[in-house]
Amino acid sequence: DPTKTNYDPIKDAIWDLGQPTPYIALTKTFSCIEEISGRLRIIEILSNYFRSVIVLSPNDLLPSVYLCLNKVAPDYIGLELGIAETTLLKAIVQTTGRSMAQVKAEVKKIGDLGIVAEKSKSNQKTMFKPARLTVKAVFDKLKDISEMTGNAIMSKKLDKIQSMFIACQESEARFLMRSLAGKLRIGLAEQSILQALGLACTMTPPGDTVSAKLPSKMKEEEFKKHYDETTLIIKTTYCENPNLEVIIPIILEKGVKALPDNCKLTPGIPLKPMLAHPTKGVHEVLSRFDGLEFTCEWKYDGERAQIHCTEDGNIFIYSRNQENNTSKYPDVISRIDSIKSPDVKSFVMDSEVVAWDREKKKILPFQILSTRKRKNANEADIKVQVCVYMFDLLYLNGESLVKRPFCDRRKLLKENFIVQQDLFMLATSLDTTVIEEVQEFLEESIKGNCEGLMVKTLKVDATYEIAKRSRNWLKLKKDYLDGVGDTIDVVVLGGYLGRGKRTGTYGGFLLACYDPESEEYQSICKIGTGFSDDDLQKHTDFFKEHVIEQPRSYYRFDQSHEPDHWFDTVQVWEIKCADLSLSPVHKAAIGLVDPEKGISLRFPRFIRIRDDKSIEQSTSAQQITELYYNQVQIMNQGNSRTNTE
Ligand code: ATP
Repeated sequence: DPTKTNYDPIKDAIWDLGQPTPYIALTKTFSCIEEISGRLRIIEILSNYFRSVIVLSPNDLLPSVYLCLNKVAPDYIGLELGIAETTLLKAIVQTTGRSMAQVKAEVKKIGDLGIVAEKSKSNQKTMFKPARLTVKAVFDKLKDISEMTGNAIMSKKLDKIQSMFIACQESEARFLMRSLAGKLRIGLAEQSILQALGLACTMTPPGDTVSAKLPSKMKEEEFKKHYDETTLIIKTTYCENPNLEVIIPIILEKGVKALPDNCKLTPGIPLKPMLAHPTKGVHEVLSRFDGLEFTCEWKYDGERAQIHCTEDGNIFIYSRNQENNTSKYPDVISRIDSIKSPDVKSFVMDSEVVAWDREKKKILPFQILSTRKRKNANEADIKVQVCVYMFDLLYLNGESLVKRPFCDRRKLLKENFIVQQDLFMLATSLDTTVIEEVQEFLEESIKGNCEGLMVKTLKVDATYEIAKRSRNWLKLKKDYLDGVGDTIDVVVLGGYLGRGKRTGTYGGFLLACYDPESEEYQSICKIGTGFSDDDLQKHTDFFKEHVIEQPRSYYRFDQSHEPDHWFDTVQVWEIKCADLSLSPVHKAAIGLVDPEKGISLRFPRFIRIRDDKSIEQSTSAQQITELYYNQVQIMNQGNSRTNTE
């Protein structure tokens, strides 16, 4: 029972030393997590399971962590689960003898294929009990399934799914089906999984036989310090080198402390990018960077491209989200040889790819770039030409540069790469602290079809902060000047059926921000503006496939705003609004600005779908709070206005 306090990883586990971890030990843990909502408790429960695995069957730690993340490989490999519902329905029907109509009706009623699968199994009488599923076997089969390509794969996939489903007992069926469908739906975020691993490694240190004091003998303070350090090492390593297949074996063999020396930034493996803080104007930039040297760069409106070149000359391009975009940009890849100087053997560069009008020699809007083929593009067929703007260098010839100040990194970038007019350029920049010059440069950037400026420290506090929204990078977008300070990236939770002209499509949507602390999606506003008829039709067609019967336990909203249809959290939208205000009905950032009121957005407008952001990367409750406090009127008035909507 992983919920037990003073859990003993050996005595309280349901399997014995040296035995493979039964799948049900993991699904029981998921089941407990599904029933509670407190983040700390979730972490503790999951860590108890990990502790047992570390002691009893350490080789199952890697598949266990993968199953929690619902992944079968690092993101950049691009292997995904996400089997179509029809295939999963077939598996249930064929193995339980129920009729398709019956199962379909039940899924419609309950809204969760996992629960229907579990119920269907429990009502089924079996002649003999198949062998128990193990974590390793389930993981291996899921991986096989996601790797299958070629002819007749559907029937092969179905065979594999059925072979596992037949052996499922109790909650195993529920989570197996949800894993296959691509979502566990228990609100377990990546950061909590890493945190739980940190806690487990603190309580039950693997590999660390010499120095580890037993946690029970540690003072509480000492324990907390140890726990914080362990978790930080795991999280930092995962940002620099997000590959569990390297990280977990090192943890098991040498202990967490060995990670920094053994698992480093590596060309070929994407790292999580550094992000910026919004600011509302040149004055704010200057006051934030008071006394520091900084530079202003044009902020290009395209797609982030982390370009990697390995020692053996392989080139990879990764998105903001560590997705492998290499096959999307053959035209960029073919230019690499001519931009690197002869001494360059390996590198990791940060850049922005923008759509480029070759005749008029100007940057085209992001929307044009988004029409490019996403995968396996053929260079000869490419219609939308691009220009790459290089802005940072993170690794060069075997050495990581992330701890070096930006002025050094920029110097190395300039020295080692050769600009190619209209193809591979350096981000336009200006080093100045004169307010008028910054203002003028901002205006020029907008005339040059950019979004505004990125302002970056040069010498002091100027390292590349992997995966961080850093204070050392400030963004100054033209939209900020008349709006809130930034566009906001929200998750769509539900739809309201349209009336009048909009009958037949959704006419409005309920939007939410994400609170990583509580792992909740908190409603932030209703939206009905900014959509063309075509947009509404597209959104309707898309979300029709993601309707769920009941809101998830981790959606936070007010009954008065209940949508006609609830959706799974599957898409992030970028929106603009006039301002943010306290709201008695919306729940965004509740408890952060006011104990009972949340924050809502006034006059929200749809801008675009953010395919390059995962759901957990939508604007966080903390960021909403900052935007709220940043509003000039709030600062000036020193009090707040309540939105009664
Ligand atoms: P956020 O999570 O901060 O909202 P975002 O993906 O919405 O991130 P912005 O906040 O608009 O992006 O700005 C950061 C992005 O701007 C970078 O991820 C990068 O793609 C782009 N960019 C364009 N020019 C530059 C530049 N000169 N330096 C750094 N980033 C740049």
